[in-house]
Amino acid sequence: MSDLNPCSTATTPLPKPQVIVVTCMDGRVDPAHILGVELGDALVIRNAGGRVTRDVMEEVAFVGAVTEMMAGDDAAPFEVAVIHHTACGSGFLADPNFRATLAASTGADDQTLAADSRGGRQKR
Ligand SMILES: [Zn+2]
Repeated sequence: MSDLNPCSTATTPLPKPQVIVVTCMDGRVDPAHILGVELGDALVIRNAGGRVTRDVMEEVAFVGAVTEMMAGDDAAPFEVAVIHHTACGSGFLADPNFRATLAASTGADDQTLAADSRGGRQKR
């Protein structure tokens, strides 16, 4: 009989991250190369601009909870690294004219886009 416990290491070996990296979705940003980490050493959360949004904070909390559930008192702490890069396209969100054009063409809310340019949404 198989083990159906989703947290069982017998059926689902999970990585033991030493670091969670929050970075831009831009393919030029390679956290493994930048930090010199090996496969399985880092979890990477990507979004436009590498912004620490409410969703990102919830993802980090989720990883912490799963790690603690899996390892109990032996859970090793992990660090969170935020990596931004030069010439990031998310910088355009600071331009009200760009936001207005984007909002008109996609139906996105201008205020939400403005909040994104400042680092994240305050509510969903
Ligand atoms: Zn970027």
